[in-house]
Amino acid sequence: MFVITEETKEIYAEFTCSICITEFGVADVVRKLVCRHYFHHECIRLWIMRQQVCPNCKINPFTGQYNDNNNALNNTDAQMLA
Ligand SMILES: [Zn+2]
Ligand SMILES: [Zn+2]
Repeated sequence: MFVITEETKEIYAEFTCSICITEFGVADVVRKLVCRHYFHHECIRLWIMRQQVCPNCKINPFTGQYNDNNNALNNTDAQMLA
C-alpha cells in the first residue's frame, strides 16, 4: 500500500481503479494486489469484504488462486461493468 505523490503520479496516471472507475491522482492511497492490479485502498478494502476476488481478473488475493465458484455470476457481473 502506498500514496501517490507529485513524483509518482505520472507512473500511475495510466491506471484506473476499476471499482470506482476513477484514475489515480496525487494523495490517493493505492493498493497493489498479487495479480499486479491497482486499486484505491479504500475501494478494494470494501470490495474484498463482500467478495474475495480481484475485480479485474477474479483472482483470490489471499490465496493467489482463481475462484472457479460462481463463474457464471462473475461473468454476468463483468458484462454489466463492461
Ligand atoms: Zn477507487
Ligand atoms: Zn487482478
